[in-house]
Amino acid sequence: MTLAGKTAIITGSNSGIGLGVARELARAGASVVLNSFTDSDEDHKLAADMAAEFGVQVRYIQADMSKGDQCRALVEKAGGCDILVNNAGIQHVAPIEDFPVAKWDAIIAINLSSAFHTIAAALPGMREKGWGRVVNIASAHGLTASPFKSAYVAAKHGIVGLTKTVGLETAEVPITCNAICPGYVLTPLVEAQIPDQMKTHNMSREEVIKEVMLDRQPSKQFATVEQLGGTVVFLCSAAADQITGTTISVDGGWTAL
Ligand code: NAD
Repeated sequence: MTLAGKTAIITGSNSGIGLGVARELARAGASVVLNSFTDSDEDHKLAADMAAEFGVQVRYIQADMSKGDQCRALVEKAGGCDILVNNAGIQHVAPIEDFPVAKWDAIIAINLSSAFHTIAAALPGMREKGWGRVVNIASAHGLTASPFKSAYVAAKHGIVGLTKTVGLETAEVPITCNAICPGYVLTPLVEAQIPDQMKTHNMSREEVIKEVMLDRQPSKQFATVEQLGGTVVFLCSAAADQITGTTISVDGGWTAL
């Protein structure tokens, strides 16, 4: 399939899943806008290297997804988009009594409110063009919970609700809005949780991976960023024209348990 002529914005895409999704969209021919809150030489080099590798336009636009005005400015600076992937996200693990208020606010802002702002900013252009795809990277934690992840679980359940609402608001036009719910994917975000989990459970790195993280993932394998990128590309295809307002799990069976 080709996404030539389409522009995709992927929030939080200088590493992990966002980068993997951006690469698959570029491979499928889309022009890509990479984003994060940093503005380093490496960020711009990532864009230049991806452009050279796939022969498509790749831009890097700095914007902090914890700030509503910057979320909207990202869409404006990109000149609108045909495909919007809301992926930026952070995590913090603590019992609710000790959960830092600043962390709660940041997680709700980055993992949930940013999507409200980018979708609001991108939809008018999609309606004008008569085609659009919104894909929100939620989580298995958008459908089920785990202890100590109150803000993350709340934000991810919130984004599933937002996905349904936007799916309904765009149901009669050729725009779809869906959420992908990954299980565990080995990215920097997950990597950063391992030391805490080792302390909490008094386990080795290997034990944490097998017995804690992949405990709920029946396949006993991490999902890959390429698989998530492929799922986004599928949602952008004509085969997915009638898939809207719903979730697709890429979780090795986690939510079937
Ligand atoms: P990651 O840490 O590798 O990537 C997060 C990205 O978000 C980075 O590019 C980072 O720069 C960006 N980001 C963070 N704060 C930002 C801000 N204020 N403004 C702009 N960008 C910001 O993590 P990841 O694992 O690739 O996670 C990506 C998304 O996938 C998140 O929404 C996460 O919740 C979700 N997810 C991850 C997993 C997993 O197992 N890795 C599972 C389910 C869902």
